This record gives sequence, structure tokens and C-alpha cells, in this order.
Amino acid sequence: MDTKAERVLLVALFHELVLKGNNRPFFYRVALRNLQVALSDFGVRVRRVPPQFAEVRTPPELEQAVRERLCSVIGVEYVAPAWRTRHTWEEVLQGVQRVLTEVGSFASFAVRCRRTDKRFLFPAPEMESRLGAAIAEWTGARVNLTQPERTIWVRVLSEGVYIFAERFEGIGGLPVGGSGRVVALLSGGIDSPVAAWRMMLRGCQVEFVHFHSFPLVSRRSQEKARQLVQHLTRYQYRSRLFLVPLAEIQQHVLVLAPPEFRVVLYRRFMYRIAKRIARQLRAHALVTGESLAQVSSQTLPNLAVIDAAAEMPVLRPLIGMSKHEIVELARRIGTYEISIQPDEDCCSLFVPRHSATRSDPEQIAALEARLPVEELVQRALQEQECVHERFPLRVPPGAPEPA
Ligand code: ATP
Ligand code: MG
Repeated sequence: MDTKAERVLLVALFHELVLKGNNRPFFYRVALRNLQVALSDFGVRVRRVPPQFAEVRTPPELEQAVRERLCSVIGVEYVAPAWRTRHTWEEVLQGVQRVLTEVGSFASFAVRCRRTDKRFLFPAPEMESRLGAAIAEWTGARVNLTQPERTIWVRVLSEGVYIFAERFEGIGGLPVGGSGRVVALLSGGIDSPVAAWRMMLRGCQVEFVHFHSFPLVSRRSQEKARQLVQHLTRYQYRSRLFLVPLAEIQQHVLVLAPPEFRVVLYRRFMYRIAKRIARQLRAHALVTGESLAQVSSQTLPNLAVIDAAAEMPVLRPLIGMSKHEIVELARRIGTYEISIQPDEDCCSLFVPRHSATRSDPEQIAALEARLPVEELVQRALQEQECVHERFPLRVPPGAPEPA
């Protein structure tokens, strides 16, 4: 068959209803850059197919791996192995035949056309009925618009006509980097990695802060935080993890405060420190894994007292979720197995099993007035360490930098 049809992967970015107006070209650019970075270890190029698609050509032996990688890129709605033809009816027919030989036989089918670039070919309904008739004649199958065994999609775009019979669901969401930067407080637990991931899915570039009690306990929690960040970096390609010592602060709090106030005091120190780091990184908000009333430190009165120390928005994407829902998500994104490894979390040190559920702001202020707060914060900041993570690991020189 003499046809100019080319085999490509068509990538549909964010669902069109998600974004409106002026934001779209910006998010589109961010998404294209992320696709290119995500594929940088495959050595394949991403081509723009406006208004919200991309096209990737791969050698056949790489197609499946590239497709799977693309499906895990945040912002991707679906990936379709497609035949691309030029805008002539004859070539479209040839492209459809290519697709038909790939899919094997079927008893019923539907054709779904969408003509985004109206300069070419016929209106979509007319294309659908013409192609429906042609396919029925070639294959002997019936048209069935309600429950077709096969659907043949035809998308008329400025770069060509894309014809496909199979599409793979992407992860969805908005491209990472499009919504700005946030700083996530990452413990070694189940919740905070899920919270960070939820914000990535809303287009945030997430940087991480982990507080540890080394040398009072082992480095185990730091290693876990690092493993979690490494894993989450698959979704955003570049991350920074700040490891901040809390041991000195904890010792001060231990001497000063009755057990039921300690967690709230630790948290306020965490927020103060995280806020400074966030400002330095030009981040706009903090993110935590708190979920309302899950533990006694996470009641509304306590959250209010903790928030007051942040002085910037604190985003809690899990606030209304049950533990069961959070665990399910953690399993899906692959952080659960890391989170359940044993460690020595700084917050389990020197605290009772239950905190006061209602801390009084004045009481907390009175306790803090007896601590050298600013000095402790400064010292912790001076002793922070920063770890960089990247994905894919072997980025070839000259590849574009992610946000
Ligand atoms: P997680 O599973 O995320 O640890 P949790 O249910 O155990 O959450 P807490 O231990 O009360 O809840 O912590 C509440 C939130 O405070 C965490 O989700 C996290 O964002 C932050 N946090 C707690 N401990 C640390 C830590 N050591 N370093 C950084 N952030 C922390
Ligand atoms: Mg915890």
C-alpha cells in the first residue's frame, strides 16, 4: 500500500474542560516541556500538535515503554498509538485501513470524528457517515453507536489527521510547574507523600522538608524521606529535599512543656522553619498530610494554633479524606510500601500517646515566650542539608531543564 501514513503516539494533554481562556497556552507549554523531560532517557523528540496535543515517534521496540512513561506524566489525558496522514480524503481512507488491519475482526463499530482544524476535509458528522459506510463495506461489520465492539477515532488537527482504535488512559491532572511551587512537610508516614502527590496533580512543583531527630535517634527517617522523594520525583522530574534537625528544639520543649502540648509546639517550630525555606524558594504555600481528627493533634483548635505559626497558606489536600482512602491512594502511587517500613519519627520522641485536643493559644504563647524561638529556628536552618533528586536518572546533556 502506497501511503504516507506514519505511525506515532498521539498524546492528549489535559481535558479541555479543565482549563479555560488565557491559562491554556501557558499550561500547554509547561506540559510539552515536561513530556520532553520525561522522555529524555529514550532519546525521542516530542512534537507540538496544537492546541493541546503532542506527537511522539518511536522505534517499534520502544513504543510500549514510551507509551507507559507518557501515561504516567501528570497532565496526560490519554495516549493513542495512531496513524497520522495528511489532510486528503484518500490518505485518511488509507490510514483507516491501516488501523483496521491492526485491530483484527469485529462485529460492530462506531466512528468518532472530531475536526479541530476546520480548514480541512468535511464536517465531522459527514466524515463519520462516509467512513462508517466504507468500513461496513470493507469489513462486513455493523455500525453500532451505543455499544460498539470497536471505536475508530479520527482527529483532524493542524499537523495532520490522526486515526486510532485504541487509547490508554493517562494519569490526568495539570502539568507540574503550571501552578507554581509549594513546600511539603514530609514525615516518613503514609499521609504526607500522598498530600504532596495530590498537589503535583494540581500542577504544583513540590519541594520537600523533613525534620529529623538525629543524633537522638538513627538516620532511618532521613533515608525513608529520601526514598519517598526519589519515588515521587518520577512525577515531577526534579525535587529538592531539605533535611532539618529538630533534636535541639525537642530537647528545649521537653524541659519546658507538659507532654500534652509538645506535639503542637513541635509543629509550630516545623511550620516556622518550613516557611523560611519556602520564602527562599519563592514557594507560595506549605503542604501537610493532616486529615481532620485523625489523631488528637489534628483537631480544628489545634490546627488553628499550628497555622498561626506558618504565616502563609497551609494546604491540606487530605483534610477530608479517611485513612482508608489515603492508604488506597498511597498504594496506587507506590509510596505505601516505603511508608510502612519501620523508622523513628521525630514526633514519636518524648510525646505521650495523646495530645491535648484543644490547645489554648495563650497557653502556647506563654510557653513559647520562655524559649529562644528565633535562635532555635536560625540554628536549625543553619544545619539543614539539601539533597537533589532527578528523574529520569540519565538526562542527556542539553536536555531542557524542568521548572
Ligand atoms: P503522616 O502519615 O504524613 O506522618 P500523620 O497522620 O502521622 O501524617 P502527624 O504525625 O500528626 O500525622 O503529622 C501531621 C503532618 O505534619 C504530616 O502529614 C506532615 O506533613 C507533618 N510532619 C509530621 N512529622 C514531620 C516530620 N518529621 N518532618 C516533616 N513534616 C512532618
Ligand atoms: Mg506521622
